[in-house]
Amino acid sequence: MSQKLLTEAAVFEEMKKAIAETLRVDEAQIRPETSLIKDLGAESLDFLDINYRLEQAFGMKLARHFVLEHIEEMFGEGTAIDENGQLTDKAVELLKIRFGDSASELAHGMDMDEVPALVTVQSMVRGVMDVLDSLPEKCPKCGNSAWKADGGARISCGSCGEAAAFTNGDDLIKEWLNKVQSEKKLF
Ligand SMILES: [Zn+2]
Repeated sequence: MSQKLLTEAAVFEEMKKAIAETLRVDEAQIRPETSLIKDLGAESLDFLDINYRLEQAFGMKLARHFVLEHIEEMFGEGTAIDENGQLTDKAVELLKIRFGDSASELAHGMDMDEVPALVTVQSMVRGVMDVLDSLPEKCPKCGNSAWKADGGARISCGSCGEAAAFTNGDDLIKEWLNKVQSEKKLF
């Protein structure tokens, strides 16, 4: 369900905090289109740290694996990355569907090592929003539809107090890939 309790702007604020604390940069340097690697010098371990801070803030589990890894796991080795370590046409097509305009730099034959540099603040905000939008309509504990935000980044049941339970990020990517596959038959 598309939840309305936490807006994209609110998620962006939390994202800025997590990135600024991890990379020790000024929040003013962090814009939606900022590439964490190219513009802020993030390294792969920094992403784990940022994700951990976000998971703590929102009470959720973010994806541990990137879309490309999920494609290979679901549709077979070589489906996303060829023997030279380059993106396949199908992988490029899928990433363009998923990331839209922000994926305009993606091209056939791009080296997979170049892909992480394309991760922007906005694409990370989108990842958090996807998990937030997995909020079920009704509280699984008491059955009421009474979700409320606490003024910060947490959502809980206004009726019984239960913390919101979200689907984890990796499962959401798998669901999404299954949906795209059933519609487009790419693989
Ligand atoms: Zn409840």
